[in-house]
Amino acid sequence: MTTRAQPVCPLCAGELRLSHREYLGGRRSARVLRCRACGAQVRGEVQDDDTRPRPALPARKRPLPDGGHPDNFVLDPTTAEMLRQALGGEAADPEP
Ligand SMILES: [Zn+2]
Repeated sequence: MTTRAQPVCPLCAGELRLSHREYLGGRRSARVLRCRACGAQVRGEVQDDDTRPRPALPARKRPLPDGGHPDNFVLDPTTAEMLRQALGGEAADPEP
């Protein structure tokens, strides 16, 4: 079942249809809906026309190296041990 959040008339729950756009001064405007059943006008959400979608920045693409994946980064034993302990490897550290 598809339930769309469609605005309905607050007075009679009738179907609202877009009537016109109301300008509120500045760059703000709101859609005005009109009830088909009773003719009530309902002002929709106020929109700030200043929040226009900004042009999307071009995605930075970096060409992959010819050799495919780079070699696995291998930690040196000292760093690996430190990481192991930092990650909760207490079993590897016997208490005196
Ligand atoms: Zn109505």
